[in-house]
Amino acid sequence: MYRLVFLGPPGAGKGTQAARLAGDLGVPHLSTGELLRAAVAAGTPLGVEADRFMRGGHLVPDDLVVRILAERLARGDTARGFILDGFPRTRAQAEALARITAIDRVLDFDIPETLLLERLTERRSCPKCGTVYNLKTRPPRADSVCDRDGGPLTQRSDDRPEAVRTRFAAYRELTVPLTEYYRAQGILERIDATGPPEAVEERLRRTVTSVPGEGL
Ligand code: ADP
Ligand code: AMP
Repeated sequence: MYRLVFLGPPGAGKGTQAARLAGDLGVPHLSTGELLRAAVAAGTPLGVEADRFMRGGHLVPDDLVVRILAERLARGDTARGFILDGFPRTRAQAEALARITAIDRVLDFDIPETLLLERLTERRSCPKCGTVYNLKTRPPRADSVCDRDGGPLTQRSDDRPEAVRTRFAAYRELTVPLTEYYRAQGILERIDATGPPEAVEERLRRTVTSVPGEGL
């Protein structure tokens, strides 16, 4: 089973790597950020509520996020496992998750904050298919349009510097302590998230396919 959690700061490359790995492992890529953005776009009551927090870079309250994640997990396509990207982000979320399912491994993306700002401010994505680009490190073939479907690329409202600072602060205060929580359970593995996506992917793949506890 590949019941994986990707932990790490905003912009560390969790979504990029989850998209690459999920298909190969035959598991769904579950991003609470994506689920929430879809709810915002659809204008559901949960989306309207979540949007107030997301715009400024604040975490969405635990009960809303746990609800949207639990609904998604119940869909029944997780027989081989899943990759959780961006969840849990607080101790309460981790404890709620433990009541829903066991977790096999937590991959902690390690990267200095100085490298993250540029990754985030240069990030663009396709609102139609969700493909994530970076104007500097992973540009689309044609200016500002998606390689896959030709639609225009957009910038996330919470990738503005002001919201990014708030997101880093939330990460440091509420999410970093989860490393201790998972280390104590013996399932935490650190991944060097610097360097090109291919290099990170290779490190991740080696760790994920090694025997738990005997990783490199
Ligand atoms: P997260 O999901 O952790 O917030 P993303 O996967 O969205 O991060 O990546 C943030 C930005 O950095 C995106 O623009 C992405 O294209 C780019 N990116 C991802 N991995 C790398 C990498 N290894 N090197 C350089 N840029 C990267
Ligand atoms: P992400 O796409 O993971 O960068 O998440 C974007 C935004 O969605 C975050 O800044 C939060 O506002 C919200 N969000 C996503 N996942 C969570 C979570 N697990 N807990 C609280 N808020 C979340």
